[in-house]
Amino acid sequence: MRAIRVQATGGPEVLELAEADRPAPGPGELLVEVAASGVNFIDTYQRSGVYSMPLPFTPGSEGAGTVAEAGPDVAGFTAGDRVAWAMTPGSYAEYAVVPAAKAVRIPEGLEDRTAAAAALQGMTAHYLIASTHPVREGETALVHAAAGGMGLLLTQLIKARGGRVIGTVSTDEKERLARGAGADEIIRYTEADVAEGVRELTGGRGVDVVYDGVGKDTFDASLASLRPRGTLALFGAASGPVPPVDPQRLNSAGSVFLTRPSLASYLLDRDELDWRAGEVFGAIADGRLDIRIGGSYPLADARKAHEDLEGRRTTGKLLLLP
Ligand code: NDP
Repeated sequence: MRAIRVQATGGPEVLELAEADRPAPGPGELLVEVAASGVNFIDTYQRSGVYSMPLPFTPGSEGAGTVAEAGPDVAGFTAGDRVAWAMTPGSYAEYAVVPAAKAVRIPEGLEDRTAAAAALQGMTAHYLIASTHPVREGETALVHAAAGGMGLLLTQLIKARGGRVIGTVSTDEKERLARGAGADEIIRYTEADVAEGVRELTGGRGVDVVYDGVGKDTFDASLASLRPRGTLALFGAASGPVPPVDPQRLNSAGSVFLTRPSLASYLLDRDELDWRAGEVFGAIADGRLDIRIGGSYPLADARKAHEDLEGRRTTGKLLLLP
């Protein structure tokens, strides 16, 4: 089968198309013929070595496809079932081995590509707005990179809960998309002072919660945009990691809460996985959540997909199609 292999960590050029043996599913595992693989920032962190991986490896943390073979001791899935998954490595390939414990059935009527695009980022947006800080009606949230894969999902889900969204974006096109997803206000964070803009838009109070996946470049403004006892959910580092923080800064910012959450801690068991996946797929089915696929690339163009994502040139979700 064809797969993207990383022999040594580095820039996007280390993503090479190679012939690899088709893997065999072990106990509790599924061999899945991949229909679409989601491209995520975590793939770039693993490729570059920010997150360490055993070398060589096949990148890709989410996908969707059809079960080709169920390994020993698998209950609940058989060949022919359509499944999606997140947070399991190796989806940049024609076939991937997925633990059955991490696979969710794709409901009828939902396309494989949409399921692949919604699995990792959809469940992440769900835990951020429903668990990390359960957004209540009338609350205001600041969402950075509001036209990105995560940003468009967060914006729509916050609006569906009756919240108000102040989004940050860098271009006209991204502003149009974020407003289309429901953002009430937009701040061009490449030109304007974010904390100042937020104070103006909230009558001096600050926002209840900041969802910050940009990291290094936005962290200070995020902290300065919170209301007293507000929450900063720092969930990523698209611009680079945030340097160490003195806890005293949380005091000065108004006794605020800082958390650095990850999806794995919010998918602790089968019930939690089924709940989050069910809510995300349900929101797509009833039209509350529109999954915007901003770019689809052939598997061989994984390098280009990473270059575009890291180069800030993309909107919505990116897919690789084997
Ligand atoms: P996006 O589609 O949001 O792409 C990143 C966006 O960030 C860019 O388009 C850009 O938007 C903005 N950005 C600002 N500064 C930079 C910079 N220096 N370089 C690149 N981009 C920049 O990506 P994803 O939706 O895939 O991921 C967003 C974040 O969510 C990532 O940090 C990722 O790690 C995180 N994440 C975290 C998870 C978790 O559980 N913790 C799970 C899933 C994702 P603009 O041009 O408008 O500024």
